[in-house]
Amino acid sequence: MKKLGKYSIGMGDRFGHQGEAQLNAIIEAGKKGVEITPVWNKSNREHVTIGTEPSDVRKEADAVTKKTGYKKPYFVDADHINFDTVDRFIESSDFFTIDVASYIGKKAEEKEIKEFVAGAEKYAGELKIPGIKKPFNVTKKQINETAEKYLFAAIKAWDIFRKIEKVKGKGNFITEVSMDEVPQPQTPVELFFILKMLGEENIPVQTIAPKFSGRFNKGVDYVGDPEKFAEEFESDLMVIDFAIKEFGLPENLKMSIHSGSDKFAIYPFIGSIIKKHDKGIHLKTAGTTWLEEVIGLAVSGGKALEFVKEIYAKSLEKTEELCAPYADVIDINISKLPKKSEVSAWDSKKFAESLRNVPGNKNYNPNMRQLIHVGYKLAAQRMDEYIKLLEANEKTVAGCVYENMYDRHICRLFNIK
Ligand SMILES: [Zn+2]
Repeated sequence: MKKLGKYSIGMGDRFGHQGEAQLNAIIEAGKKGVEITPVWNKSNREHVTIGTEPSDVRKEADAVTKKTGYKKPYFVDADHINFDTVDRFIESSDFFTIDVASYIGKKAEEKEIKEFVAGAEKYAGELKIPGIKKPFNVTKKQINETAEKYLFAAIKAWDIFRKIEKVKGKGNFITEVSMDEVPQPQTPVELFFILKMLGEENIPVQTIAPKFSGRFNKGVDYVGDPEKFAEEFESDLMVIDFAIKEFGLPENLKMSIHSGSDKFAIYPFIGSIIKKHDKGIHLKTAGTTWLEEVIGLAVSGGKALEFVKEIYAKSLEKTEELCAPYADVIDINISKLPKKSEVSAWDSKKFAESLRNVPGNKNYNPNMRQLIHVGYKLAAQRMDEYIKLLEANEKTVAGCVYENMYDRHICRLFNIK
């Protein structure tokens, strides 16, 4: 069976030009003793918006690993696919993030629910999970409600998994199940029963992406109480550990953190908790690389700076349209977005610092950062121009991408000094 390493990072490269800079960050971590498996992920939504094919991501991953002489495993993730969108990803991907969010809340057949509840009833009462101090008090009603809410999604995950397996063959790909893009977080007890459902369907899930409490907005820091998050994260980790043994799930099953870029407030907690329990982690960072491209172009000045100013101005006009598909994962205070006239007078430094996530920098504006995060469509509409600028300023842009991935993400998460 293809196995995902203990530590892995999902990297998005929407325009396909930063794979090498991203990989260099991974290689540098390896030199410091932290082995991380690179995974290049791109969702259907991103492919549609940009006009790329899943095979483009494969080509890029193969090319940059070859160029840098990288000999360790790496993967290409069909990110957030479902039954209807998976087909064109199957050939070129070897990691599939099966997104069941849209199936949550739909009811499975009465018979299926009854069957699940009958098998799960033994967990009613005091549910003691090793590593969690207080036992959970689970009622039969709760088990029934969980089945009504999640069983259909688990069955759908199974359908999608079979569809992929039929083409790729057994054990030839990594399976992740995600349910992060929903309004309500899953509790540790819900996660426990969801894992039971996946176990019953015999899905060899290696990473699971729940929705946690607090806000995981795209490209900006965690919003919520980091200590509370730490408690929830640790409970979930213990639930996974117990579920592996209890339901026969793959022993390397680990947590996947979606919208995981820039969550600097919680990285120290995640880092110390996985260390304490000797667990792995998959961190998905998706769109942050596109932001670094914009920052790199701003730093480059001249035409490149003008271009990103135009992108920002356009995104102000189209705020509603750009934000709509990302409603659950962004939080923009429109009144705090700088005006077009204001930004047009900015120099490279001011523009770059407004976008770059350096907490404490007085120029940093998380509202502007989130808007640009979802505004990549506007660069895609001027693709030739954009790619030319990226290529003309390659060194500066790659430097920003590397610094962001290595210094701000990897070093903080894995406590590399
Ligand atoms: Zn996600």
